[in-house]
Amino acid sequence: MKVMNKTATGVWNNCLQVIKDNINQQSYKTWFEPIEAIKLEKNVLTIQVPSQFFYEWLEEHYIHLLKKVIKSELGNAGRLEYSIVMDNNSQANQQPYSIKVPTSNKSDVKNPSVAMPVNINNDNTKEIPNPFVVPGLKKLNVQSQLVDSYSFENFVEGDCNRLARSAGYAVASKPGKTSFNPLLIYSEVGLGKTHLAHAIGLQVKNNYPDKTVLYLSTEQFTQQFIDAVKNNNHNDFVHFYQMIDVLILDDIQFLAGKEKTQDVFFHIFNHLHQNGKQIIITSDKPPVEMKNMEPRLLSRFKWGLAADLQIPDLETRIAILQKRLYNDGIEMPDDVIEHIAYSINSNIRELEGALISIVAQSSLNKREVTLELARQMIDKYVKSNKKEISIDYIQKVISDYFDIPVDKINSKTRKREVVQARQLSMYFSKRFTKSSLSTIGLHCGNKDHATVLHACRTVTNLRETDKQFKEYMDDLEKKIKS
Ligand code: ADP
Ligand code: MG
Repeated sequence: MKVMNKTATGVWNNCLQVIKDNINQQSYKTWFEPIEAIKLEKNVLTIQVPSQFFYEWLEEHYIHLLKKVIKSELGNAGRLEYSIVMDNNSQANQQPYSIKVPTSNKSDVKNPSVAMPVNINNDNTKEIPNPFVVPGLKKLNVQSQLVDSYSFENFVEGDCNRLARSAGYAVASKPGKTSFNPLLIYSEVGLGKTHLAHAIGLQVKNNYPDKTVLYLSTEQFTQQFIDAVKNNNHNDFVHFYQMIDVLILDDIQFLAGKEKTQDVFFHIFNHLHQNGKQIIITSDKPPVEMKNMEPRLLSRFKWGLAADLQIPDLETRIAILQKRLYNDGIEMPDDVIEHIAYSINSNIRELEGALISIVAQSSLNKREVTLELARQMIDKYVKSNKKEISIDYIQKVISDYFDIPVDKINSKTRKREVVQARQLSMYFSKRFTKSSLSTIGLHCGNKDHATVLHACRTVTNLRETDKQFKEYMDDLEKKIKS
């Protein structure tokens, strides 16, 4: 029989081919690359996933896709079972339990998950009396160092941060009791790590006012440690940290190369983790890419969940600006907000920086905030930040210029002026961005690279033969570059 000759990896690789074509690349990387196919028996494929959360996420978001691919690989009787990497103590224990993915069309199996039979957390880690706690000193009076405005409420949700945000929220509801321990949030600068880390801390304080939450930067931690060693109170330092319920350490990458500090953090980490306390860390890189970090510490970082923050898309950028303005009680015309969001797509800190400088400029000169003022300010702002021109931005300029909405430019319309606007978007994107032809195609109406190539040729030809068209193009070029 055909099925008999298949291997788990073979079958799963075939499934992956299809999955890859059906979801975006980031999701694929996050949710499917870490999966390992471990067993194929008859028509039951077992895949291993890194955590319970992982399994839940797959089930919630990809169950239909999984059903389809399993059915096409293993037939109607095909089934998928998950094995969840269980243990919080590095030897990855597995406790497989089966979650059946029925491929029959019975509609009564809406939710194929069986009731979770195992608790992934080490519930056998009972509270051990802490020998270090001096009687009468039980209640720690710790300044949490949390910034009130960095709340969940002010943290705008988008595709760019959905996983990290929801994991953070889950952690805040049950600190130390979810499988995301540690929770590691990573991203490039200015994308919200610090904000989200504070939000989790604030939310814990909200939910559990008695819990001791401490936020601090890794530099602060390092400095305290150095002082402790100098002053000969290394033990006090360690004991203090061992009494924290939720420890948030920001920018852990600054531990790189600092062996002694890593060592002390390793011990604090273990103590907290063993006692069911929550650890939240942020970093500019995922654990696999961290350099000059003790392997044993890195392996700890991989125990929980590493979730990244991406650059927000246009809608999210607009929403972030609106939230900020609303909180500050400032009104600003929509077109100005949109223009800022279109123009600045490097990170959120710069987005806010541009907004603040426009507001400041208008109040200093008692000028109203107009699109014109915003353009001038952004020109200056962007130039000083050496911004790269983006496809989004080019489309926006073209859309404004011809007064055709961006949606329409990217639609399937064959109307001449729309086609021309689309082709110009492709042409300028090719010239002014580093994007590949296929990326440009994807952004300009979901076309393939050949269409983009054709557009570039058409535009070049028209430019040489049509005077009016050439004028448009020179105008546009100035606007895009200004
Ligand atoms: P990082 O720590 O990654 O460098 P920050 O947390 O300091 O980034 O974020 C930079 C700025 O962007 C902060 O002012 C923060 O409030 C804001 N910010 C980041 N993400 C969001 C979001 N999702 N919603 C609203 N504001 C955000
Ligand atoms: Mg930060």
